[in-house]
Amino acid sequence: MSRRLLITGGHLLTMDPAIGEIPVGDVLIEDDTIVEVGAGLEVDAAERVDATGQIVLPGLIDTHRHTWQTALRGFGADFTAQEYRSCIRGSFGMHMRPEDVYASTLLGALEALDSGITTMVDWAHIMNTPEHADASIDALVDSGIRAVFGYGTPNDDETMEWYQQSTRHHPPDARRIREGRLSSDDALVTMALATRPPHIVTRETMINDWRLADELGLRVTTDGGLGGGSWNGVLWGPGGHEPIRALAREGLLNERTTFVHCNNIPDDELRLIADAGASISISPDSELHVGHCFPVTGRAVSLGIRPSLSIDIVIQVAGDLFGAMRSILVSDRGEVGARHYAEGSGPASWEITTKDVLEFATVAGASAVGMASRTGSISPGKKADLVLLAPGALNLEPMNNAIGLVVLQAHPGNVESVYVGGRAVKQNGSLAAPLRERAIALARSSRDHLFASARLEPGWGYKPLLQPQWRW
Ligand SMILES: [Zn+2]
Repeated sequence: MSRRLLITGGHLLTMDPAIGEIPVGDVLIEDDTIVEVGAGLEVDAAERVDATGQIVLPGLIDTHRHTWQTALRGFGADFTAQEYRSCIRGSFGMHMRPEDVYASTLLGALEALDSGITTMVDWAHIMNTPEHADASIDALVDSGIRAVFGYGTPNDDETMEWYQQSTRHHPPDARRIREGRLSSDDALVTMALATRPPHIVTRETMINDWRLADELGLRVTTDGGLGGGSWNGVLWGPGGHEPIRALAREGLLNERTTFVHCNNIPDDELRLIADAGASISISPDSELHVGHCFPVTGRAVSLGIRPSLSIDIVIQVAGDLFGAMRSILVSDRGEVGARHYAEGSGPASWEITTKDVLEFATVAGASAVGMASRTGSISPGKKADLVLLAPGALNLEPMNNAIGLVVLQAHPGNVESVYVGGRAVKQNGSLAAPLRERAIALARSSRDHLFASARLEPGWGYKPLLQPQWRW
């Protein structure tokens, strides 16, 4: 006997081009799947949720987050990219035990759910031992989020060996996970390979890593690099200043790869990404904060790429996509405005709109993780991943432009309910209290261990941790 749930009377932002926006609409869910969407559905359903006055949107999708760092939240508020690598990866990574990875991943996944993110790529470059991989997956499963576990490389006391023209192949333990607990591509937690970018490994390593992904039937998420001259001018690998071209040359560039960042990648390489049908992930807040320059948004869109959105690092920036949606749009409009100003004019209209940005955070995210048929819009046949915003919020009334409000004015505090595959993980504005409290307690205790191991007292600041040899 299947379970039927009817959400009634909501303002539906379906993000399904065939259905569009329905100001007063219903969503019928059967078990984990959306079966009908429309106005005034006349159906029998045992369970009903009255969403009158509420905005209902697809669950948001974060395509790149280093969830293992959550216990260090806010520690790097003033970091540059180099300081981030030196302090977080150089000073804390080697002290991360499996239980630390579990604590951070659980808290990070719950934080994501709480803010309306129903699908997240856990970009786990903390695979110091097989137990670290298991701890990541345990936490993702326990949280209830839809996740792609991105199996990365270790971040231990030999981390630099994995980065400087590295000849080390991707950890073979990835095969154990793929052939074991993450063998299904239909489960709530699935798998990808989070590989090092082509410009910091040898050609042979790059080929090996991409072939491993292919052999295991996995998508790849990797750093697109920042284009010529960045990364402090240090470039080691076959990609040199042209990481995308290096992949294309070897026949490894395909639609199953997501490139994160891509800020200063030149247009001709972006075109290679577009032609291959590959995807990109923009983390506007972290990119702007650490010194990666402006996000690639405008150039990517003009070349036909629909970017997805991501958080990257909560050691510095907020973990919700409402903020990221604002940032990606405000940075793009700032850049376009400055260009016009330099020419003595002003923009007549905007190329990228709030609707585009909501697409980046939903349907484009689903495509980037290979789940376009499963999530990303409120469409019959897709999994019921939904977010309901609370009615009567001071910051959302009167509701004159629902998409504009979601993208530019809503915040995580507006998220009243979250469904993942039809299951309510957040109701009445709260996640389940025991799980939430357990995650906070574990993360606090993990933070104490990490600070003690790095010989750092809270309040000391990060400068004692800077290591000049960390240059990449
Ligand atoms: Zn990242």
